Amino acid sequence: MNFYGLKQNELEEWLKNHNFPLAHARTIFQLVYKEKINFIHSLNHSDALLTNFPTQLLKKLAVDFDFTLPKIKTAHQSQDQTIKLLIEFSDGKSVETVLIPFHHKHTICLSTQVGCAMNCSFCYTGTQGLTRNLAPHEIIGLYLVTYKYFEEVTGKKQVKPNIVYMGQGEPLHNFDNVKKATEIFLETYGIELGPRNITLSTAGYLPGLEKFTEFPRINIALSLHSAIDEKRNALIPLNQKYPLTTILTALSKLPRLKRQYIMCEYLLIKDFNDSFADAEVLIETIKDLPVIINLIPFNPFPGSVYQRPEKSRVDEFKSWLEVKKIPAMIRTTKGDEILAACGQLYVDELNKKAKKVPTQI
Ligand code: SF4
Repeated sequence: MNFYGLKQNELEEWLKNHNFPLAHARTIFQLVYKEKINFIHSLNHSDALLTNFPTQLLKKLAVDFDFTLPKIKTAHQSQDQTIKLLIEFSDGKSVETVLIPFHHKHTICLSTQVGCAMNCSFCYTGTQGLTRNLAPHEIIGLYLVTYKYFEEVTGKKQVKPNIVYMGQGEPLHNFDNVKKATEIFLETYGIELGPRNITLSTAGYLPGLEKFTEFPRINIALSLHSAIDEKRNALIPLNQKYPLTTILTALSKLPRLKRQYIMCEYLLIKDFNDSFADAEVLIETIKDLPVIINLIPFNPFPGSVYQRPEKSRVDEFKSWLEVKKIPAMIRTTKGDEILAACGQLYVDELNKKAKKVPTQI
């Protein structure tokens, strides 16, 4: 079993079953996640931090658990410092991860599936189809290797990046694994992110939304993109099965932390959903909900039929919302020249364009 898929209480159970004191679970988590000790590695290269650690337990951990992390195959960095990594798992399947600088902090955009079954027409990943779900340890592994790479290329210790589940895959379509990975991210003696540091973005997968209360109270975002059903159907085929009004009702019923809003992403596509009439329907649909609209100018990818609107139209669309007191912001496009921006992720294209990273992690 891979260690990075374990919650602290599962490690305690393992300790109990092998007659070790439960208190070691906390120490092991701290050593692995805060001191970044790899137990297999430490068996061969004695680590000063393990001087007082019971040898028998160290050996047993190394035998029973796999401490291998996924491997970075290639890396790209765009001019705005966005870093895109192609990361390979033990079965040879790869996904991308993007590290995005944002207001003096960094956010890691994590994938949750290899490919995606949702087939959204604006999304490069959607053209791939679904290959498989990611396991909890693979999702944790993506975060750990990206964070480590970030510290290595910058040459200094960095604040823990936030997380958005907004990479390849529909996170609620891989419900159990993403939920467990989220619980591991929040472990106090582990990575120790806060619930507000994590945002899950869904295209509107109702079976997952209906049981989202089982998740810790992280932020949730909806890929809204149009409040007109025919247009949303064309962008997100899932809308035919689970229409926007049903999704918004489910979202509005979710408990929220203080000042926690529902982020609605609205991809602005030239001459498709960027008119005043589109804004009016959007306003009417969401006016009574605690939402913030995140306007994202479309990011073109090879073969896409859609185009990005002029900046003036993006600004105009935002002002139409604001006049009606709908909070809106424009997301600056980051990393688009390396196909790292929203909807641009596609493993084969990345493989073709990427250069090898100098050091493997
Ligand atoms: S936008 Fe998200 S849900 Fe839709 S195809 Fe792309 S990865 Fe899947």
